[in-house]
Amino acid sequence: MDRNVKTLLEKARATATYAAEKATQVADAASRMAGDMAMQTKLNLQVFDMNSEIDAVYKEIGRIVYLVHTGEGTDEGLDDRFAQIDERLAKVAELKAAIADCRTTVICPQCGKECGRDDAYCVRCGHKLS
Ligand SMILES: [Zn+2]
Repeated sequence: MDRNVKTLLEKARATATYAAEKATQVADAASRMAGDMAMQTKLNLQVFDMNSEIDAVYKEIGRIVYLVHTGEGTDEGLDDRFAQIDERLAKVAELKAAIADCRTTVICPQCGKECGRDDAYCVRCGHKLS
């Protein structure tokens, strides 16, 4: 085989291998991201549900306070409701922390560039990340 042709074929093969590896990496990243997205969606729904429950308890507190105001009720059950809200707000904070953990990117606090979560330094400004 002509040497030039041989070199050309070797180059083409190397490029094909590189492209295949790159495609696999992109597919892996995409599937990882899809998993993250599914988890984030699930967690976001839980935050939404928890906030709905908190709103319902706020409403009950409002009713109790109003009945105390009109003299038709007592403040019995208020402390329980406060505790329920405290508990649910703590759960919301936990869920939000879990959502942040799902993210594959972080925002550079220095310049606002979106960087990879595992990047040690910002890709734009070089600021040390975490
Ligand atoms: Zn930066």
